[in-house]
Amino acid sequence: MAKVSEIYGSMVFNEHTMQERLPSATYKSLLKTMKEGKSLEIEVANVVAHAMKEWAIEKGATHFTHWFQPLTGITSEKHDSFLDPVSDGRAIMSFSGKELIQGEPDASSFPSGGLRATFEARGYTAWDPTSYAFIKDEVLCIPTAFCSYTGEALDKKTPLLRSMSAIEKQANRVLKLFGEPNQHIVPTVGAEQEYFLVSEKAYANRQDLVMCGRTLFGYAPCKGQELEEHYFGAIRPTVNEFMKELDDELWALGVPARTKHNEVAPAQHELAPIYTNANRAIDENLLTMEKMRLLASHHGLVCLQHEKPFEGINGSGKHNNWSLAAGKKNLFDPGESPMDNLRFLVLLTGVIQAVDDYQDLLRMSVASAGNDHRLGANEAPPAIISIFLGDELDAIVDALIDEHEYTNAEKVAMDLGVAVLPNFLIDNTDRNRTSPFAFTGNKFEFRMPGSAVNLSDSTMVLNTAMAKSLKDFADAMEGKSGKEFEAAAIDYIRDTLKAHQRIIFNGNGYCDEWYAEAERRGLANFRTTADALPCFVSRKNVELFEEFEVLSKTEVMSRYEVKLEKYNKLLNIEARVMKRMVRRVFLPAINDYAAEVASNIVTFKSALSGANVDQQEALLHKLLAGVKEIDVQLQALDAAHHAALAIANQQQRANTYAHEIIPIMDKLRGAVDAMEIVTDRDRWPVPTYNDILFYV
Ligand code: ADP
Ligand code: MG
Repeated sequence: MAKVSEIYGSMVFNEHTMQERLPSATYKSLLKTMKEGKSLEIEVANVVAHAMKEWAIEKGATHFTHWFQPLTGITSEKHDSFLDPVSDGRAIMSFSGKELIQGEPDASSFPSGGLRATFEARGYTAWDPTSYAFIKDEVLCIPTAFCSYTGEALDKKTPLLRSMSAIEKQANRVLKLFGEPNQHIVPTVGAEQEYFLVSEKAYANRQDLVMCGRTLFGYAPCKGQELEEHYFGAIRPTVNEFMKELDDELWALGVPARTKHNEVAPAQHELAPIYTNANRAIDENLLTMEKMRLLASHHGLVCLQHEKPFEGINGSGKHNNWSLAAGKKNLFDPGESPMDNLRFLVLLTGVIQAVDDYQDLLRMSVASAGNDHRLGANEAPPAIISIFLGDELDAIVDALIDEHEYTNAEKVAMDLGVAVLPNFLIDNTDRNRTSPFAFTGNKFEFRMPGSAVNLSDSTMVLNTAMAKSLKDFADAMEGKSGKEFEAAAIDYIRDTLKAHQRIIFNGNGYCDEWYAEAERRGLANFRTTADALPCFVSRKNVELFEEFEVLSKTEVMSRYEVKLEKYNKLLNIEARVMKRMVRRVFLPAINDYAAEVASNIVTFKSALSGANVDQQEALLHKLLAGVKEIDVQLQALDAAHHAALAIANQQQRANTYAHEIIPIMDKLRGAVDAMEIVTDRDRWPVPTYNDILFYV
């Protein structure tokens, strides 16, 4: 077997390959484009395209594709072969700079939220040279942005890239105040991906899993996750084989998959990569998700990436670990010198301000029908945003606000006047798992995103909100220097922390008291996607996106519409699947079993006069009462569902799904589940939680 170090990145046109394959002048100008955002000349693109093609063909590629992320959130690709027939009947393999830089997929069926009327349906894809091209299944994949001809973004990547420019610009203004030169500053992201593995056989026998990615029915298994024996447990052979193949493929694609382990829930697992620049990290996460889904089939498995495949069992998240890097330096490292610490405090304060001011947007950025089942459900943070700083940092913030002297555990006094921070924060191990947004030593961990989500939205919001904080600071401080700057910066930090202290919460985010406390503090609590989405288009938030040129008002409106429609469509599908399964799968099975019980009663009575059939009669009563209850809820769902479909306004329809239909769906599920545990196991028509969760 080849060594990992040899396989790693072998399918990626990375800097190493570029340097090896490109003339040095071309390599240099490409680097300038990648690192400094300089635009690329077509001549340079031609040379790059040729080298890429030669490299790809050597690796067995026959096609290329512009790989992009439409508003569905998943990746899209349309393969074109390199084939170019020539006049004598033969063909050559060609790939031009123009084909590298720009593509024009006939992509009129992607959601655009009304941005494209059909007559101008064509969008175009534009090469993103900051994320490496790679070969996947004999196709050279070129990461691209997807835009309309009028320039509006139709994808997830474009606003992310714009937000990265915005934060880079503002962060440079702030660092300049600390005497630093202009430099390349990028947000970094590490996306921890949770997922479930179930057997293909069980999956195929459950329409709800196939159609919705989650079970719409299912009584709790006899054993859940209470023994916590799955967490970090020995990985079983089938799963291990899957994980090994996954690692190998990801490594070849240059995805730094690092940690793999069993998660708390039975059949649940996690993969964590080493973090990298946000844009690439998100591309890599999407690749990881795709590979997980595809490779699972090699092992008779299905990979579930839904946020809540099983009720009562932990759902899957995707923690967004986020930080800012200037070159190799992590800007959230507190640092050694007083000035480093002052810079750290400025940035920390910026995050606190950003998360408080744009808590609604952050919540919105992770809102989805699936994640609604997860947030606030005891294993994921609540739908309320707050920041966990840890005891010591919290004490420092308190000291700053109250203007008293800070003394840490080792009694190192900190004179706030010169902003000396003891260098202990790296060891900040006191991690609060219940916080939606935690400072974990030198980065922040946003724990609300669900496993299925594309992290572009939340990263874009974080970047933009942080750009705003940094801009405010730079606007207030530019022109000051030396002692005057230091004193003004400390005052600024103090005032800002005072104004935003409400967002800091170090307690248990899962307890009921927090809900009341958060309400008292005036923190937003959007329980459902339908409640959260309108924040996207509020004036304050549109202004933020416009100010930093991340999204125009039209783009915001169209994205809001796309999200609403997606929510409504998903719930429509769930309601349909539910009704169909009840009518065609569960009711017939329960009725059959009831008929069997009834005929048993007759048989017993005729075989034995005066036979005691109390148990059988009670069971029959229960089954018939259950069927009746199922029918009542089914009719209720049917009526409410039809009424919802008649609502033209998408927001009102979403509200109806969230607040009227989901409660009925819950009741219907309850009625069916109650019959599951009294019906003959062999007659239950779908694999149960007991069957699914413990056999992989
Ligand atoms: P835990 O499960 O305790 O949250 P993990 O080690 O599983 O910790 O995941 C931590 C994630 O945070 C990894 O993906 C890691 O690469 C990422 N990470 C570490 N440092 C940074 C950083 N500076 N910026 C972004 N992500 C980071
Ligand atoms: Mg984590």
